[in-house]
Amino acid sequence: MNTLRYHGAAVGGRGPAARTRPARITALGVAALAVALLTLAAAGASAAAQRAGTLLTVRFTNNSDRDLTLGPNSYNGCPAALPERVNAGATATWTLDACGDPRGNVGTVSFNIYREPSRTQISWDAPVVGDSSYTQTAPGGYVISRSGGQGFNPTVDFTFDCNSTTCDGIPDSWKRNGIYINPADGSAHTAPAPGINLHVDAGPNSVMNDVGGFTGTGRAPIFHYAISAHNLQAGTPSSGIAPTPGSDLIVSLGSFANQVGTVAEQAGTFLHELGHNLNLEHGGDQNVNNKPQYYSVMNYPPRTARSTGTATA
Ligand SMILES: [Zn+2]
Repeated sequence: MNTLRYHGAAVGGRGPAARTRPARITALGVAALAVALLTLAAAGASAAAQRAGTLLTVRFTNNSDRDLTLGPNSYNGCPAALPERVNAGATATWTLDACGDPRGNVGTVSFNIYREPSRTQISWDAPVVGDSSYTQTAPGGYVISRSGGQGFNPTVDFTFDCNSTTCDGIPDSWKRNGIYINPADGSAHTAPAPGINLHVDAGPNSVMNDVGGFTGTGRAPIFHYAISAHNLQAGTPSSGIAPTPGSDLIVSLGSFANQVGTVAEQAGTFLHELGHNLNLEHGGDQNVNNKPQYYSVMNYPPRTARSTGTATA
């Protein structure tokens, strides 16, 4: 758990009970309190309805196909039981207590997305009095939405999801309507743009149906698509890459023997990347590399094949 907190309230004995209080209440203080009470009374019911209180409950639902793990976060008030994981299909709930912080609850939580380089993040600013505000962000291929979060001691709901029904990173609208991609800059167009255009339709995991939508084919776990390329990126001597699990793999031996690798390297890399597609990690069913007792094409350093170059996938 990587918890960063503002102020460190309630950690190390600086909780609200330990806050210093005025030694005595002055006559001026009493007068100020009376004015404040009169002001509150005059504001009437609408002000009372806006009171946000000192508690905020966050419900986070993960409707995507990826498990989430707790990433960098920061918040004020008392320590909260943030979830270490929110697995695919699960909902996590936690309650924040401002514990005397006059700002109410202010904070941010991010979650790592399994096998994605970017995170999803939510933040809240729920004052003791007044309307609460929230933000949420999700990387490409995912969406996050929000509801609720106002009223006294509010509950706010965040829902994280794929941006497509089949969770393959291709938006549903692209599958329904097609899309033209300019490979030079990756920009998407609904009509062909000058130059080379790639037309995207249903993708490997779904087919168009007769009402213009799409239906899952169930092909993804069975069919695998392999590309033999030179290098993944100029100056990157990686031998290949593949999602775990997945349908696609790339063998890239341009930095290996004779810029194509030996036959053993080609076979070993193909098997290694296909193994990732079939849900094998570098340690078999464990994502632990370099296990000395694990003799497998999945292990590093490669046991049976790639003998030159640098393997990083
Ligand atoms: Zn690998």
